[in-house]
Amino acid sequence: MCAPTRHIHAPLHGVNGGSPDRRGRAGATVPDEWYPPPGPREDASRAVPTVVDDTDRRSAPERGRGSDVNSHRLPRTVVPSRYDIRLEPDLDTATYTGEEAVQVEVRDEVNEVQLNAVELSFTRVEAEGPDGTRLEGAASLDPATDRVHLRFPRALHPGEWTLRLGFCGTLNDQLHGFYRSSFKDAEGRTHVMAATQFEAVDARRAFPCWDEPALKAVFGVTLVVPDGYTAISNSAPIREEPAGPARRAVTFGDTIRMSTYLVAFIVGELESTEPVMVGKTPLRVWCVQGKRHLAAYARTAGAFCLDFFEHYYGIPYPGDKLDLLAIPDFAAGAMENFGAITFRETALLVDEGAASHGELERIADVVAHEIAHMWFGDLVTMAWWNGIWLNEAFATFMEMLAVDAWKPEWQRWVSFGVSRAAAMGVDGLHASRPIEYDVRAPRDCEAMFDLLTYEKGASVLRMLEQHIGPDTFREGVRLYLRWHEYENAETTDLWKALGEASGQPIPEVMDGWVFHPGYPLVGVRAEGSRLHLTQRRFTYLGDPAPGSADEPVQLWRVPVTVRASIAGQPVERKLLLAAAEDDLALPGPPEWVVANAGGHGFYRVAYEPALLDRLASNLGALAPIERFGLVSDTFAQAQAGDLSAEGFLDLTARFRDETDRNVWAVVVGALAYVNRAIDDDARESLEAFVRDRARPAALRLGWDPRPGENELTRQLRGDLLRALGVLGDDPEIQAEARERYARYRADEHAVEPNVLPAVIATLARAGGEAEYAEFLERFRHARSPQEEQRYLYALTGFRQAELLNQTLQRTLDGEIRSQDAPFVVRAVLVSVWGRALAWEFIKGHWETMRRIFPPSGFRRMFDGISALVRPEWEAEVRAFFPAHGIELGGKILDQYLEQLRVGVRFREREAARIAAYLGRVVREMPTR
Ligand SMILES: [Zn+2]
Repeated sequence: MCAPTRHIHAPLHGVNGGSPDRRGRAGATVPDEWYPPPGPREDASRAVPTVVDDTDRRSAPERGRGSDVNSHRLPRTVVPSRYDIRLEPDLDTATYTGEEAVQVEVRDEVNEVQLNAVELSFTRVEAEGPDGTRLEGAASLDPATDRVHLRFPRALHPGEWTLRLGFCGTLNDQLHGFYRSSFKDAEGRTHVMAATQFEAVDARRAFPCWDEPALKAVFGVTLVVPDGYTAISNSAPIREEPAGPARRAVTFGDTIRMSTYLVAFIVGELESTEPVMVGKTPLRVWCVQGKRHLAAYARTAGAFCLDFFEHYYGIPYPGDKLDLLAIPDFAAGAMENFGAITFRETALLVDEGAASHGELERIADVVAHEIAHMWFGDLVTMAWWNGIWLNEAFATFMEMLAVDAWKPEWQRWVSFGVSRAAAMGVDGLHASRPIEYDVRAPRDCEAMFDLLTYEKGASVLRMLEQHIGPDTFREGVRLYLRWHEYENAETTDLWKALGEASGQPIPEVMDGWVFHPGYPLVGVRAEGSRLHLTQRRFTYLGDPAPGSADEPVQLWRVPVTVRASIAGQPVERKLLLAAAEDDLALPGPPEWVVANAGGHGFYRVAYEPALLDRLASNLGALAPIERFGLVSDTFAQAQAGDLSAEGFLDLTARFRDETDRNVWAVVVGALAYVNRAIDDDARESLEAFVRDRARPAALRLGWDPRPGENELTRQLRGDLLRALGVLGDDPEIQAEARERYARYRADEHAVEPNVLPAVIATLARAGGEAEYAEFLERFRHARSPQEEQRYLYALTGFRQAELLNQTLQRTLDGEIRSQDAPFVVRAVLVSVWGRALAWEFIKGHWETMRRIFPPSGFRRMFDGISALVRPEWEAEVRAFFPAHGIELGGKILDQYLEQLRVGVRFREREAARIAAYLGRVVREMPTR
């Protein structure tokens, strides 16, 4: 799946941001009031998975063997090869009836067949043997194991059998399984549709099945739908026939052999773009009626990506069509159902002329990510859920590659630095986890849909790709796909293929990154013409990790790339740093050194003070991603207490001329983090400080685009204006924003699309009731998903308690969709104006939230608790979760609590010093 937002969220260091899907919180991170809010990008996740034991240090092959004998896996005595499924949903009563015939191989004589089913009622159970024998059976559901036991009066002897099952179920409102989604048309009439979300383990809610990724089968699907409704599944329709009054049965062609979690059914009043042919494959974008004009951009992006991946993988697309569908209610960012990819509307539909760069990039990202999965994930699938990380990490990596190929001017690998930094924020916690860990109960894998899987996973794949070379890497991927197509594979199978292509021992390099938590801090010291390099694990709270005193020192094989200036000439050197320390010889004493040249390495760098100073004096010699790394690493060390916050704030003075938006993202994200740490009476000084840093760059760009200017510059303009108008409380920017918005009301082309979000956020920050009423109306009547999100999150950006309380209330009364509600609460939680209110609101309404928000939303919502950086709040937060029995799966809650600890400690250590420093600096600033 795809998680929701990367960029939109933020970056840094826990400095905020947020997106669904793509994720944004990080070490100590919290989304911020600066970056546009999240849109979801993440995928699936449940609120209450079992806790995972991820301390398993066995090698991967050992783990694989261990998990074969696992009570969470169905017996292999009976396995399916083909399902013929006929479903008839009734949208009015929110129920459906189903029939299925499953061809199975009975391997051992059995009286009972076990498969997965949840919340289904059985109306028929019959088995037909190879000799025509028919046996009637009975079904009994076991909710504890998600299984149904089909018991027969006599044994089924080995051979090919057909099971005929009748069942009925409910179209739920929980956004998983087979569920109901509703939307209003332009006239305000409500329409209902049905869609599916099965990953990881919810296909069993829709139809009885062997719901494990390794039990692949062919699916023949028939959907019976009312006239006027469209039915979509994984393959193209091959037949339609009448099926009762005003209904018809649509039968789809056989799918490839694939896993149950990739099956999809969508029924609704839909419309689509014209198909675009990519090779032999027709690609369409689908949406609810009335939104087709928002589908052209995704169609173009999708066509490019489909073609790109066919060439990259060297295998034609394995399906007979590819549909991209926008679903009005959708928990994840998107889902890679084979041939029928579903998306949240914000991740697929857009008014291209009115969208910002970030909004367009997000759609390109998500579309690329999901199409990448058609091969990596769908054609070749992980054998068990512990492999989910590779599925997602690889799709994220491929998404960057494809978008970078489509729009090289976007410099997608540079902005990926923001995502990498977000993953480092989490992975710098003691409560981090290895990318891959043992998954016993399948629900344990739900905790894998996080930054460590997507962003750290993609980062280490990028590091490996750069280490062995892109062509070799692609060759290895092609081998892997060819060896395992239509089957399942493990992580070690990919290493084997990459090893074959590269002639290198891949596991030796990769195991430290994949099977251990954390990453190294590489220390750099110059001694004449030698560089002395060291490595140790970086953590925000310092070593040793609690309870891990007996752990051996963790060392990584770190592919270090160094660029140095020697006698005015650049020199590049590579070194695989495998020991705790090592020396690197240079041709002469360096003037400056950058120790993560190109920024591909998943490590932080700690320069000795003299080297740091010389590097900061030569920023012009650094690539944007290297400047990004310098700021990100330096602030992380300030968060950890290794450097002073004052030193970091001083460093930001060197970035007044910065032209890269990602570097600005990390600078502003860090200042937003500081804003949450300081006392209220220091805020004015911080605002003046923000103005001092960001104004020169903003004034240089002005408010209006210039001819020939690129998209990134336009987005940077919007980012800087927003930073000034919101975090800098800049009265001139706010006055101009007011004027520009008035012009926009008269003529909506009067404000450039990248500037408009900044104008709206600024007016929320500076405005009151009138602006609130205006934005609420615009939210209610939004004409595109992006416009809706923009005004929705503007409602979280006000300062007045009364207005913020209204916004919070709207998350419970149904006005804000449940798919968005947890994100909205989080956005208030990370605002310095709203956090106390939001926390009170959560405490007061938790039981209601638990009932009406989608279970997957809580992980997102509680991500915001790390903004509650006062000791009294921290104590309340720590008591709240056990008191209400709330678990978020895996180590997620531990991570949030540790991020909160990092923030409280930072505040205790630095807040007074920062206030004194800011007071001094601001007094010395020239008055304008
Ligand atoms: Zn994915």
